[in-house]
Amino acid sequence: GEGSSRILQTRGLTKRFGGLTAIDDVDFAVDAGELRCLIGPNGAGKSTFLKLLTGRHDPSAGAIYYNGAELTDLPPYKRIDRGISIKFQVPSVYPDLTVEENLRIPLQRVASKAEFEERTIETLEQFDLLEEIDTTAANLSHGQQQRLEIGMAMTLEPDLMLLDEPVAGLSVEETEEIAELLVELNDEDVAFIVIEHDIDFVASIADRVTVLHQGDIFTEGTIEDVRSDPEVKKIYLGE
Ligand code: ADP
Ligand code: MG
Repeated sequence: GEGSSRILQTRGLTKRFGGLTAIDDVDFAVDAGELRCLIGPNGAGKSTFLKLLTGRHDPSAGAIYYNGAELTDLPPYKRIDRGISIKFQVPSVYPDLTVEENLRIPLQRVASKAEFEERTIETLEQFDLLEEIDTTAANLSHGQQQRLEIGMAMTLEPDLMLLDEPVAGLSVEETEEIAELLVELNDEDVAFIVIEHDIDFVASIADRVTVLHQGDIFTEGTIEDVRSDPEVKKIYLGE
């Protein structure tokens, strides 16, 4: 019935930094297997919202429900174990480690040593990085680093994957590669919340789009709804 496939829900979620309300009483929901894009002008609260979902920030008020259970007060690692994985806005691969060594970090959480090699090869094939297995991460291209980071997050086998600006600074070709990858992963029933500015990228991947403005949901709908909404254009022009 209604809401039975809902994977994530927030109620009255609020985050204040001193006198600034970065997230303001937000009710938000995502269905299992959905690919949702989160857009909005700089400072709208997008990154803060994802950090509340992962437990990196504690909310000032409100609640977060995941698969029917409340996880508002769970520490980040327990949320990862429940199936929420994130790629933050700031790249966080280990630059001095090889691709294989980077992958081993999340794999240690979920796989036995005997499975490492198989899981490593499998992941690197899927993320088109097998030829770079012994490359030091610092020597990867920006697009390869993003793919490695998404791959690292995906080895944790999340049901919900959060991505903060996964194609920022990438070439058109690299961006298309990431788009294809996300659609493929989404086909395997992983739900996504993706923050992104590139509206063509959003159009190529999103089931639905949520527009955040001044810490609150401004509107939600299909990419066509959002693109043709003159009020949405206005909030971007005010940036
Ligand atoms: P977006 O990702 O949409 O650009 P953010 O979530 O990064 O926006 O920021 C929303 C607002 O909260 C901004 O005004 C930002 O300056 C503020 N903010 C974000 N993180 C912090 C923090 N750790 N301390 C104080 N203010 C913050
Ligand atoms: Mg941000």
